Amino acid sequence: MTDLLCCKGCGTTKPGPTGDPTDLFPSEHCGDCPPWRCDGCEQMCSMAAPCDCWLRLDAIPLADVKALFAQDGTFNITPISEEER
Ligand SMILES: [Zn+2]
Ligand SMILES: [Zn+2]
Repeated sequence: MTDLLCCKGCGTTKPGPTGDPTDLFPSEHCGDCPPWRCDGCEQMCSMAAPCDCWLRLDAIPLADVKALFAQDGTFNITPISEEER
């Protein structure tokens, strides 16, 4: 079995599904990542001190994330901002 990529930031992998969102897609960053510069707000942030953009992403409940993927069974997700326009 191929290891699942958990984190695009530091390349962490896991041997199989663990029931968290990284089962479906790797997170941008995780607790093992060194601090990074946010693409959205240009500030340095980390899991210990996340920026405002990161908090917004993190506020999506896991059930909603899975519902998004369940809608059409693909990884093509329309950004919420597009739907609300
Ligand atoms: Zn990481
Ligand atoms: Zn940010």
